[in-house]
Amino acid sequence: MEAEYYSSSELGFDKSDISQDSFEIIQNLKSHGYDGLLVGGCVRDLTLGLKPKDFDVVTDALPHQICKIFPRSRIIGRRFKIVHVRQQGQRYMDYIEVTTYRADPESPGSWVSKILPKSRNKRKVFQGENIYGTREEDVMRRDFTINSLYYDPVEERVIDYLGGIQDIQQQQLRMIGNPRQRFLEDPARIIRAIRFKAKLGFDFEHGMEEEIQQHTAWVEGLNSSRFYDEVVKFFNQGAAEESWDQIFETPLGEMLFSHMASDRRSNNSDQFTGFIRQALRNTDRRVREGLPVIDSFFIAVVFWSEYKKSLLRYMGKGLREHDAHDSAVSDCLVKRPQLLIIPFRVCDIVHEIWRMQAMLERRDKRDIRPIMANRRFRAAYDFLVLRSTVGEVDPTCVKWWTEIQEVDSMERKSMITQLPNPKPRSKRRRRKNRSVRQHARLHATQPQDMM
Ligand code: ATP
Ligand code: MG
Repeated sequence: MEAEYYSSSELGFDKSDISQDSFEIIQNLKSHGYDGLLVGGCVRDLTLGLKPKDFDVVTDALPHQICKIFPRSRIIGRRFKIVHVRQQGQRYMDYIEVTTYRADPESPGSWVSKILPKSRNKRKVFQGENIYGTREEDVMRRDFTINSLYYDPVEERVIDYLGGIQDIQQQQLRMIGNPRQRFLEDPARIIRAIRFKAKLGFDFEHGMEEEIQQHTAWVEGLNSSRFYDEVVKFFNQGAAEESWDQIFETPLGEMLFSHMASDRRSNNSDQFTGFIRQALRNTDRRVREGLPVIDSFFIAVVFWSEYKKSLLRYMGKGLREHDAHDSAVSDCLVKRPQLLIIPFRVCDIVHEIWRMQAMLERRDKRDIRPIMANRRFRAAYDFLVLRSTVGEVDPTCVKWWTEIQEVDSMERKSMITQLPNPKPRSKRRRRKNRSVRQHARLHATQPQDMM
């Protein structure tokens, strides 16, 4: 297989643009006689003049050989083994992913096709195992040509087997192989195609749009955690607002956020041009400024209108605020049938952000310190600010919460003292806060009672 070689300087970057850790790992692999290259999104982003999120390394060394070279490494994954390599002084969470070249088990030249008789079901036999291959096989199993570039930082050259550089220059998203077949093989590529179009502003290759429109439903077959991970990437990569529009250009929008279909069709300005759009813009700004963004905040935004409706319904049926809140959270995030299964860790944070809204608005002087000590306070405050931009919250309340975070402890004390005296609390024993998981478990056998 012929490749084109480009010096990285002619593409506008050099090895100083990559992380020192990934460079050292590649040098080390090479000094042991192995290949070591950067691949995928980081090479694409460097070529585009963007700052890569992470640096993925590929090699021809097998996982156990990688571990031998790097004592601070760990093999993860069962189906596909990936090695997390930590350099000296790196923290537990900071690692570089090093992967052995892999082949598609169906490709004629792959190791599997050579050792297995044709009649056997290769996918089944090799489930749970790894199918290693050559670099030429590795490139063919990647998704888009723009994600198929390799970069050798020692030689300072980019290796392009499939015309990825030309596609970047022409701003075209081109599938490696036949789009329909590759979408069928792995429907996550449908979500990825929409995401890259939004993030990079590229055009789909001829015919890809129609394939997406016709076959979006294939994503229903995806494993729920993989599906969630691909979906949240829409919103934490700096193109959240554009992604939102692109998603609704395809059936994926209504599949993901069916509760919004009618709002969107009637162009409900509160939901679309207001609250959600403002949140997406803020998220994009935070990413540009290098500030962290959490997927829970996005989930809290998108399901807020549904939560409010549900909360009112439960309170109308006579439930106390606390219980109504628990039931509304459970209905919106856990119980209702939905394509997007939200992990419990996220549900718990969303539950806290929503629960604190009423407390922030009430400003009961007994609650101020516990609220500020809550680790979700900052996210809940940001959510309150967001709500105030669409007139849902009294601006003086937001101003008060902004100020109390800025003043010294004396001033803070006096701000709290100046709040009106609250009504005495009822004698009924206060129920402990339950996590969303506990609540869901508790109500698992009950029918959708109040609805
Ligand atoms: P991002 O900058 O958003 O992380 P990325 O291209 O790096 O984009 P990753 O999910 O980090 O995306 O994947 C790394 C690389 O692995 C991709 O560039 C691509 O080569 C390959 N890849 C990832 N997912 C798939 C898939 N579903 N099918 C084929 N190749 C994939
Ligand atoms: Mg990546």
